[in-house]
Amino acid sequence: MLEPITQGFRPSKIVCVGRNYVDHAKELGNEVPKAPLLFLKAPSAFVVSGEPIVIPRQSQQVEHEAELAIIISKQCRNLRDDDAVEPFIKGFTCLNDVTARDVQRGDVQFTRGKSFDTFCPIGPHIVGGLDTSDLSVICRVNGEVRQQGRTSQMVFPHAYLIRYISRQMTLMPGDVIATGTPAGVSKLNEGDVCEVEIEGIGVLSNPVTAAKD
Ligand code: ZN
Repeated sequence: MLEPITQGFRPSKIVCVGRNYVDHAKELGNEVPKAPLLFLKAPSAFVVSGEPIVIPRQSQQVEHEAELAIIISKQCRNLRDDDAVEPFIKGFTCLNDVTARDVQRGDVQFTRGKSFDTFCPIGPHIVGGLDTSDLSVICRVNGEVRQQGRTSQMVFPHAYLIRYISRQMTLMPGDVIATGTPAGVSKLNEGDVCEVEIEGIGVLSNPVTAAKD
């Protein structure tokens, strides 16, 4: 049974992992971190498949980031290295970590550039029991492939991330972990359609519009 992600999905937090694919870290001129680089995205940024990504007036460089997302099933805190993570995973889905790159670069940290309304498309549904060790992660814009990676290229795989994050903050049911993006991020423009496709999950598709107010 696939559980769809519907409008109004509001977990307590979205924990994102930066620079978790070597080729993406390099394309932006960054080193690969020695420990997971964590940041938070505001839950008010969620939209579901089919809803528009709105380019805000504050940015001239809004980019897509195709990512595998983990949905947490139950409260999770202080996991040790040998603790199983499966009981804490509800399932996996596609996520687009939309980023105002110019805003992100201009600020000291990532919050504003990552948290504009509509900057977190997620879905279309949650798939449980998925072997995520080597899945293809693809982003297409207007049907053209822009990002194409595999989850096997992650610096820190999903089990490592769940244990690590659980030691920094309590994960709650429904919380989302975005596991990082492969190389190929590029600018989105008004009128584009951006798709994130992950093997075994499906396609998350969102049109791009410009702010009207
Ligand atoms: Zn990201």
